[in-house]
Order: sequence, then C-alpha cells, then structure tokens
Amino acid sequence: MKSLDDIAAALEGYDPQALSVPHVLAFLDAMITPLDAQDDQDLPIAQALGRVLACDAISPVDVPAHDNSAMDGFAFAGAELSPDRPLSMRVVGTALAGAAWQGTVGSGECVRIMTGAVMPGGLDTVAPQELVSIDGDRVTVPAGRLQRGDNRRLRGEDIRAGHAALRAGQRLSPAALGLVASLGLPTVRVKRRLRVAYFSTGNEILSLGEPPREGAVYDSNRYTVMGMLDRLGCEMIDMGVVPDDPTQLRAAFLQAAEQADAVITSGGVSVGEADFTKAMMRELGDVAFWKIAMRPGRPMAVGRIGNAVLFGLPGNPVAVMVTFLAFVRPFLIKMMGGSDPAPPLMQAVCTEALRKKPGRTEYQRGLITRNAAGQLQVCTTGNQGSGVLSSMVQGNGLIVLHHGQQDVHIGDTVDVMMFDGAI
Ligand code: AMP
Ligand code: MG
Repeated sequence: MKSLDDIAAALEGYDPQALSVPHVLAFLDAMITPLDAQDDQDLPIAQALGRVLACDAISPVDVPAHDNSAMDGFAFAGAELSPDRPLSMRVVGTALAGAAWQGTVGSGECVRIMTGAVMPGGLDTVAPQELVSIDGDRVTVPAGRLQRGDNRRLRGEDIRAGHAALRAGQRLSPAALGLVASLGLPTVRVKRRLRVAYFSTGNEILSLGEPPREGAVYDSNRYTVMGMLDRLGCEMIDMGVVPDDPTQLRAAFLQAAEQADAVITSGGVSVGEADFTKAMMRELGDVAFWKIAMRPGRPMAVGRIGNAVLFGLPGNPVAVMVTFLAFVRPFLIKMMGGSDPAPPLMQAVCTEALRKKPGRTEYQRGLITRNAAGQLQVCTTGNQGSGVLSSMVQGNGLIVLHHGQQDVHIGDTVDVMMFDGAI
C-alpha cells in the first residue's frame, strides 16, 4: 500500500493548498484497494440487486433457445413469397408458446403461431395477424409487405452459449437480474458489501430528539450520507454525532476504522477550526488535509486510519453531498469492483447567465428539462449557498463548471451530471 506522501510525490503539480478536482480524482485513484476476491460470495438472484458481479456470468445456453415467433400470426416458408403476388395458404395447425407444433408443413401451408412459440421445422417467416386476411382455413398475405425472415427471433440472437452475458464489474440492475435469471442460473458470484461507518462532528450539531438550543443545528449530514450509501448497497454503521472532545473522537475513529472499510465524517476540517477532529485524524492515521479548488466543498481530509479509508468531508450540507458525489461515490464503486464509477456527463443549454471564475470547479444545483426543440436545457435552483440543502431537493442534477471555464452566457452549452439513482 502506497503512503499518501508517495502518491503525492508521483502527482505532478500536487498542491494541497489549492488542489484541482482532476488532481483529487487522480490522487484518490492511486489510493484505491479493491475488495479481496477471497470475500466474493455466491448469492441467489433475488438477493443480488445492486451487488457487483465478481466474475463474468457465462451463459450455459443460447438465448433464445430456439428460433421463435416475435408476433402472433402465421408461420410459413419465406421462400414462397413473391414481391408482386399475394400469397394464399392453408392453415394446418397451431404452435403455442410452450407447445411446439410437431407436424410437417408442406408447400402452400402455414401454421398459426403465438408470440414466443418455437418456429416449426423449415419455417422462417411470420405474417402478423393484423396483416393477413382470413377466410375459413385459408390466410392471404398481401403482396410486397413481408420479407423472408420477418418477425422471427433467431436462436442465440440475444446471447450465445459459452459467451459472457454480463461482465465482471457490472452492478446488478433489475434488468441484469432478469438477464441472469433468463439463463437459468440460480446464483451469481458477487463482491461482498462494503462496510462504511459514518459520523457527524461538532459541538453545535444536534441529534434528532434533542431539544433545540441557540446556535445549534440538527444533524442533516448523517441522513444524506446514509441515503447515498444505501443507494450504493453499502453496509452502514451509523455512529451518531461525536462532539469536539478528544476522548470521544478518538474512540469513534478507532471503532469506525476497526469495523469498516471506509469511514466518512463531516465537519471539523476547515481552516481555523477550533475543534479536535483534524488533530485526531492526524494522530491516528495517515491523512492529507486539502483545500480543493472547487465550490462548494473546499476543505476535505483524505487518508487512512488502520486499514480503513478516511473521508473527512466538509460540514456544510450541500458540500457534503457534492463531495460525496464527486469523489466518495466513484471511489467506493471502484473499491467494490464496479465498472461504472461515474454517470456520464450530459450537455444542456443553459437558460441563465452564470458567473464563473477560472481556476476552480463549480457544482451548481440545476433543474434539467427539455425545451420545445427537444434539447436538454438547464437553469439553477436559485440560491447556491453551500448550506442550502433545499437546492439539492429541487434540483435533479448538478451543473458542472470545469476548472478552466469562465462565465456562462445564456444559450451556452454546459455539462450536467444527473442525480438519477445516486441521491
Ligand atoms: P465545519 O466544517 O465544521 O466548520 O461546518 C461548516 C458548517 O456546516 C457549519 O455551519 C456547521 O454548523 C454545518 N454543519 C456541520 N456539520 C453539520 C451536520 N452534521 N449537519 C448540518 N450542518 C452541519
Ligand atoms: Mg465544526
């Protein structure tokens, strides 16, 4: 495991007092230790939602297993079609899904077939029910409307036997669970869940249930962090609010590091903090204290205590969420072996002018919609103060104004990061 000093030395232009967001991401990448393969687990599909696949899921079968019909209609040999003549055929039987037609079908004959039913031998084309005219046991396909092979799904067209249906690193979505189940596989091999301990620091922070007092604020960070960790499928260890008291802080850090793969705290890392949080991090671990060239979220501490990774997030509620989304979330996903650490940035037309100083990355809370032309457009949610948590609720994504970017004019295109399922 590389020390933080080693990582810093290898990073050109590393300046802890004014660290750019790309530098933060590069530094964090060098810190990641993925979960041990020894801890991989075999889980029933029904328990695997949100887990990360530990190895490729190889299909034991072709999917679909047989050529089958994509429509309700009439199956026939496409070679009988001619472009300028209707095709009239006699119906000789019915193929149901789950009950294949066993008879033979001669020239001028067809089989009534249901969606998903196995194509009878020798037949390769399906005329949809709504296309044909039916008269007793005869159906007629109009000229020029069908080609050979239409409305037939080919055996193995989705997945071929022996091929990977899903790759290691895939986070198992509802669609992925369905896909694995469609192969007949009852279990999947997944990474174990990450254990993450978190607590809030500060003498002014009240836990729910405590009476309000002058100058104190209720702890919101623990709930946003909890929610974002839950969305990632982490095992969570809630350690409450820890006051600025060396004994309690020491106990909390040691207990958290002992039990968890990662420890997330909020508050107490800004310059001039009168509290003991930073001192305790320094004493117990290998920790770097950064001023990041970003807004919101300037101060942050990162390092290790024992075997656990430490993220000392700023105290302001929006800064906590933004630094989590920008740094912690991708880090944790990579630690879990996931191959989708960050959602793709999208582009939207900005409908308002935004002030932006080059030399820092800004994350403004945005409301992303579609304009009349069908393009994505974005406006801010108003007050962008780093304590204004309602902006995170009103917004559905972040406007990402990159390090070198300058003022944004109405009509300019900006990058946006949709919240999707992340928050
Ligand atoms: P700090 O980084 O500790 O100086 O905190 C910055 C600001 O965030 C202060 O106004 C704190 O009161 C506020 N803050 C810190 N922790 C929390 C928390 N857990 N919940 C809500 N606000 C907090
Ligand atoms: Mg504080």
